[in-house]
Amino acid sequence: MASNESNSATTLAEFSFAPVAIVHSPYKQKFAIPRQPGLVTAAHGKIELLMDAPHQQVLRDIEQHSHLWLIFVFHATAEHGWKPLVKAPRLGGNKKTGVFATRSTFRPNPIGMSVVKFDGISKMGQNLALDVSGLDLLDGTPIIDIKPYIPYSDSITSATSIMAPSAESTVIDIEFSDGAKQQLQHCSTQYRDLPLFIEQVLSQDPRPAYKKTNLQCQEYGMSLYDLNIRWQIQENQCLVLSVEKH
Ligand code: SAH
Repeated sequence: MASNESNSATTLAEFSFAPVAIVHSPYKQKFAIPRQPGLVTAAHGKIELLMDAPHQQVLRDIEQHSHLWLIFVFHATAEHGWKPLVKAPRLGGNKKTGVFATRSTFRPNPIGMSVVKFDGISKMGQNLALDVSGLDLLDGTPIIDIKPYIPYSDSITSATSIMAPSAESTVIDIEFSDGAKQQLQHCSTQYRDLPLFIEQVLSQDPRPAYKKTNLQCQEYGMSLYDLNIRWQIQENQCLVLSVEKH
């Protein structure tokens, strides 16, 4: 009895964690971030270590892994709280699903997890950073843990998900206006894979779900890096109008 009591007291204790790293991401706002990692492979970011521990040591042998798990805080939405039932966009936005049956950002503990491709280590001032790609994280996201992705147990080829059987595939034709092409040429050396990155982000159709059935031509803007990208979409035709520095 006594031992049970102390077990539950331990289990119900609150924990607080200090971030071990911070995300430097081209996604400066939530709008247009893909729904999961790996969908936009040309998204390049850095995970800058913030720990007061030898960075070389905590990263030793990390290059033996091609992919990493990032465990992070949904810091931009954490204060909005959560509800036991959430509207799953995958189910048309009307049916409600238990929070633990979704990857909703509004959770009892606002913690997210993403697998990203590990591209190497770089220096950021005094700190070391992990170069990663395919991330789905907002700039400034606090990272509370980093772990290697272990294919033999993390990749379950027989796994099924009736709710999200595959990445949503909207076929969107993307074109750049002559003006946008010229602007892209100017900044091509500064941002790796920029045209491909913009194309991949737009192919995910970032419009809010209720707008996707709208047949009218509408103009949108999104921030990637320090660029403001304006585009318009009508049915499945997307035209990038301009790519300008903020
Ligand atoms: N792969 C993660 C995240 C899925 S939800 C998981 O499964 O846990 C993905 C959405 O999280 C993105 O569309 C983006 O809008 C949102 N997001 C990313 N970083 C965030 C942050 N720091 N705070 C709040 N929302 C964030």
